[in-house]
Amino acid sequence: MTNNVNKDTCIVCGAAAVEIQTMTQQFAYADKNRDVLLTADVPVEHCHECGEILLGVQGQIAQHEAVCSYLGRLSPAEIKEIRTGMKLSQLAFAERINAGVASVKRWETGMVIQNASMDRILRQVNDEADIPMQRRARITPVFRTEIKPHMLAASKLFQLRPSG
Ligand SMILES: [Zn+2]
Repeated sequence: MTNNVNKDTCIVCGAAAVEIQTMTQQFAYADKNRDVLLTADVPVEHCHECGEILLGVQGQIAQHEAVCSYLGRLSPAEIKEIRTGMKLSQLAFAERINAGVASVKRWETGMVIQNASMDRILRQVNDEADIPMQRRARITPVFRTEIKPHMLAASKLFQLRPSG
């Protein structure tokens, strides 16, 4: 477990006893008609006074990345890395891939996950970009794991446990 001293006050009890901790969290994600169990290392705000554990913005980002990873899609950070590696503005990047600038903004902030065909285009652009290799985004290859029924049952219990 990673602990960082944080002087933030707890929004529940008001004590200045909030620590940021990394926990391994399992959560259910509804993919079309079936639920899948995803695991993410998420930063949470843990109050030592009242015991409250809150998922902050960073935690939500970690969950979103786990969903992208499960779907085999680029994460918001990876898309941004591809774009900035090409030294393009969001508008110029959108024009390059024949998409709207609003879509690029939504993908990069994690509001929307790009569909499968657009994801392929984004990977292709990164592969074919006329830029030095070291400036190209290091993106996660597509990888998918099937979820076993007993894992799905466990996800319904919503577990938060230390990552050790
Ligand atoms: Zn508290």
